[in-house]
Amino acid sequence: MKKITITIDGASSTGKSTLAKRIAHHMGYTYIDSGAMYRALTLYAIRNQYIGEDYFNKEQLIKELPGISIDFDPNDSITLNGMLVEDEIRSMEVADHVSTIAKEPIFRKFLVAKQRELGLEGGVVMDGRDIGSVVFPDAEMKFYLVASAETRAVRRFRELRDKGERVSPKAVFQNLAKRDAIDSTRKDSPLIKPVDAIELNSENASEDHLLNIAIDHIQTRLH
Ligand code: C5P
Repeated sequence: MKKITITIDGASSTGKSTLAKRIAHHMGYTYIDSGAMYRALTLYAIRNQYIGEDYFNKEQLIKELPGISIDFDPNDSITLNGMLVEDEIRSMEVADHVSTIAKEPIFRKFLVAKQRELGLEGGVVMDGRDIGSVVFPDAEMKFYLVASAETRAVRRFRELRDKGERVSPKAVFQNLAKRDAIDSTRKDSPLIKPVDAIELNSENASEDHLLNIAIDHIQTRLH
């Protein structure tokens, strides 16, 4: 059977990665978390003190870009220059700076090239903000996930708490609001619903229910 490209876009914590992973598992496709790539680049900048509370040495990060390698291991976990960074990229510190880096066209160009390379042969489910609109505008199947800001913040707070990060619900809510604002108003590849995307609301839907709806839509594109 032919292998198609499936994109899932939406704001933070709408449930994109859970749905994307389950679709990929169901289809025998590869899951690619494009947000993890922006987070890995941000982690690199934090570690080297190129970005922080009140500074951003964009020029130095640009200079070092050719030497930075961001990839996925065979378990779909993200690596930065060959080292696994899956846990570290999920911290609040990374979340606080990632949108500042992701709004810069030069960093997007660098990561979009890599994303297209990873999706070259189809058979991928990729989630992010601009996957259906910019990275794979010709993808056969596009989804757009939505949920209320409150539900998303609660989800994110629980995820961070379960990982042992000490963070207040208020700080999580503020971080999501800040990222939403930057991600949807930036000039280059803002978060939008692609015209040909199917909108799914994860607000009160179980993971199984969302998966079933998605699979039904995908089946129609395979024939
Ligand atoms: O998906 P996740 O919340 O991990 O993404 C982290 C950040 O990476 C987003 O808030 C956004 O700034 C950026 N991002 C992006 N384009 C993508 C995926 C993520 O700009 N395709």
